[in-house]
Amino acid sequence: MRRVIVCFFLLLVSGCVEEKVKSVDVNVINEDGDSLGTIKMSQQPKGVKLDINLKGLPPGEHALHIHDKGTCEPPEFKSAGEHFNPDGKEHGLLHPEGAHAGDLPNLIVKEDGTVKAQLMAPNVDLSEEKNGLFTKDGTSIVVHEGKDDGMSQPAGNAGKRIACGVIKKPQ
Ligand code: ZN
Repeated sequence: MRRVIVCFFLLLVSGCVEEKVKSVDVNVINEDGDSLGTIKMSQQPKGVKLDINLKGLPPGEHALHIHDKGTCEPPEFKSAGEHFNPDGKEHGLLHPEGAHAGDLPNLIVKEDGTVKAQLMAPNVDLSEEKNGLFTKDGTSIVVHEGKDDGMSQPAGNAGKRIACGVIKKPQ
């Protein structure tokens, strides 16, 4: 009997280990609800890597942030909530008391509306823990109309939200 219980316990433990998510593809939509491509997020030893491959965006510099609600309702994407900020910091990669865990470098979109880039989000992970992107409320990734000045509260003076993608734990 004891042996059965031990085996069952080991099965549970190995089940948990297997459940760890290594990467997730985030589908990004615009204000019309059309897909602009994907951002692949992969767990690294320190943080999460973002492989960005989007099209159909206005050329130029755009703020990119991880937000603290897992819904993207176009056209305003207010449903995405505020910046993901589990450590209670100020906004901005340049702010002395920053930054939000969800603050990211600006995206630079080419003249043809495409952007391919790799970024690191060093203060988040693909888990359900405190800094994890699979929290109860979910998370999302939002592109803004303007660039993030890295300093202004609460969101870098980046203007309206123009694209959004829900970060969902793969089933
Ligand atoms: Zn922020």
